[in-house]
Amino acid sequence: MGAISYRDEYRKIAFTPPQLRGAWTRRVEIFVEKYVPLLSGLGFEVVEPEVYSEEILYLVHDREYVDYVKRMSKSGRGWLDYGDTPAYPGVFEDALLAVSGTVHCAEQLDNRSVCFNPQGGFHHARRRSAGGFCVFNDVALAARILSKRGRTAVVDVDAHHGDGTQDILYRDSILKISVHGYGYGFYPGTGWIDELGEGEGKCLNVNVPVPLASGDDVFEKVLEELLAPLLDSYGPRYIVLQGGVDGHRGDPLVGLRFTDNSYWRLALLLHSYVEKGAKVVVTGGGGYVPVEAARLWALELAAILGGDMSPIKPVEEESVSDEYTKSIVDDRVSFLKEKLSACNII
Ligand SMILES: [Zn+2]
Repeated sequence: MGAISYRDEYRKIAFTPPQLRGAWTRRVEIFVEKYVPLLSGLGFEVVEPEVYSEEILYLVHDREYVDYVKRMSKSGRGWLDYGDTPAYPGVFEDALLAVSGTVHCAEQLDNRSVCFNPQGGFHHARRRSAGGFCVFNDVALAARILSKRGRTAVVDVDAHHGDGTQDILYRDSILKISVHGYGYGFYPGTGWIDELGEGEGKCLNVNVPVPLASGDDVFEKVLEELLAPLLDSYGPRYIVLQGGVDGHRGDPLVGLRFTDNSYWRLALLLHSYVEKGAKVVVTGGGGYVPVEAARLWALELAAILGGDMSPIKPVEEESVSDEYTKSIVDDRVSFLKEKLSACNII
C-alpha cells in the first residue's frame, strides 16, 4: 500500500517569490484533481497529516532560527533569506504544516511501502537559515526520524544541490546522494564531488554534479555506476527521496534535459528495494511546469509502488548528451568511485 499525505491547505502554500507562487500551488491542485483518483486505483490512499508541534523542528534546526521565522511570520514583511524566500503573515504556520506532511509519512511507514508529500522536499533550508524557497528542511527531518529505527538513505534528484540537507546531515551516519546540475552561476553553487562527509558521516555524503546540458544517458550512467551500487552495499531499510522534477527537459528554471525515462528508471530502481522490504518517503521538491510536475510525481509514485502501470506510462523519448558533457561526467564518476571504494562504501 501507498499513502499520499495531504491537507486542503496544501493547495495554497508556496514559499516562492510571488511570480512563482501560481506554478508551485497549481501543480499540487493538478496532482490532487487529476492524479490522486488514478493513484487511488493503484493502491494509494490519501491520509491527512496531523499538525506536529514546533518541537519537532528542533531535531534539525536551531531554536534561534525557529524563533526568527516566527518573528518574521508575525511581522509578515521582507525576506527570510537573501531574496528568494519571502516572509509573509503566517509563513511559520504554513512551513510547519508542510513539514508535518513529511513527518507524518515517516511516522506512518511501518504499514506502507511508499508515502508522498506533494508539499515537501525543502532541501535548501539549513540548520540556521532559509534558502531557495525553503523554510524548514523536511527531508533531513524525516531522515533523522527514520534513522533512529533503521539504516536510512537520502536520495536527492532535484536539479539543484540539496545543500541544506547536506549542511544538517553532514556528520550523520545516513547515506546522502545528491545528483544535481552544476555550472557557473547555477544555484546554490555547492555540491562538489569532494564534499564527502565528516565524522560518523565520513564517505556517506555523495554529490554527483552534472553539467546543465546533461540528458538521459548521463542520468542512466550515474544511476548504474553510483546510485545502485551505493544503495546495494548500504542496504537501507528507509529511503527518503527528494523527488524534484525540475531537471525535466523544458523546466523554465533549470536547463537540464532529462526526459520521463530518467525518472522512470529511478523509480524502477527504488521499486526493486521496495520489493526487498525497504520503505520510501517521497517529497515533491522543485518542478516549475505544473502539468509536468504533477504527472511526473504520479509516474514515479506508481512505479515505486509497482503493480499495474497501464494507466500511466513514460513518454517514449530519450535525450542524448554531447561528448564533452559525457567526458566531464565520466571523470567525476571515476573520482567518486575511487574515493568511495577506498572507504569501502562501494
Ligand atoms: Zn530544484
